[in-house]
Amino acid sequence: MSERIPGIHHITAIAGDAQRNFAFYTGLLGLRLVKRTVNFDDPGTYHFYFGDERGRPGTILTFFPWAGIAAGRRGTGEVSATTFAVPPGALDGWARHLDGARVAVQRAERFGEPLLAFEDPDGMPLELAGATWADGAEAGARADGVEAPGSILGFHSATLHLRSREHTESLLTTTLGFETAGEDGGRRRFRGATPGAGAFVDTLETPGERRGSLGTGSVHHIAWRARDDAAQADWLERLLRLGLQVTPVQDRQYFRSIYFREPGGVLFEIATDPPGFMTDEPLEHLGEALKLPPWLEPDRVSIERALPALDTHRVGPRP
Ligand code: ZN
Repeated sequence: MSERIPGIHHITAIAGDAQRNFAFYTGLLGLRLVKRTVNFDDPGTYHFYFGDERGRPGTILTFFPWAGIAAGRRGTGEVSATTFAVPPGALDGWARHLDGARVAVQRAERFGEPLLAFEDPDGMPLELAGATWADGAEAGARADGVEAPGSILGFHSATLHLRSREHTESLLTTTLGFETAGEDGGRRRFRGATPGAGAFVDTLETPGERRGSLGTGSVHHIAWRARDDAAQADWLERLLRLGLQVTPVQDRQYFRSIYFREPGGVLFEIATDPPGFMTDEPLEHLGEALKLPPWLEPDRVSIERALPALDTHRVGPRP
């Protein structure tokens, strides 16, 4: 059986201040906080999941807010930009919206699609692409009472910045089943099996560039979708056969994960689509309460005490 990766499942990044991170992604970008939990490996830190209304795979950007750590330094071996899809007609409205919040925006065009590039409050590079496939689509993400253009439909793509891209591209195409989708100004595009949110990944190569260092504003890893546990088990076996060091399956409560570092240095994860975010709270209340996995529930009082206060009503247009 030859499974192909459908596309991006989620992207996880590092933020500084939790309140500022929450305000930017919900208040300014209009994403929904679909889960408020902790870093299972470090329960003194929040883990925020932002996404569309239901937190569908392909729409989920997650953060560990680590106040007080150093800023990341851009370089190779990392995801250097995270791109959301909006209907092409919404791009001018987004430019005005970001400008109104004093977020500096640069306009570009890529593969024939218009694009806005900007940064989040921690300096994380973000883009909004007017995606052809998103034309005429319904708004996918909108936080209550937020006057954002409100039409982020999930990820458009992510950019892998590499010192040498040959082995990474070979892994993407030969093993993970991505198809080549063109080249534009030194950037190569690859397409996963399922069209729509999160279908694309781009590579950029800068041979002399130093490696990026992880810190606030850095992407920690990018996760690809697996249809179910059987597909993930199949990926695990195939990656191990290639000689890659892959972690055993980890229970992340809302999906199950395996992790490995691809040859260009970027941390990859393969995460299952099921069970999703409605496993421990209903759709209408996603993200409202701090959720803990069963094994951390006995420590709830001390965990809550250690976490910084978060006012989820304070979204506000300014991060
Ligand atoms: Zn992850």
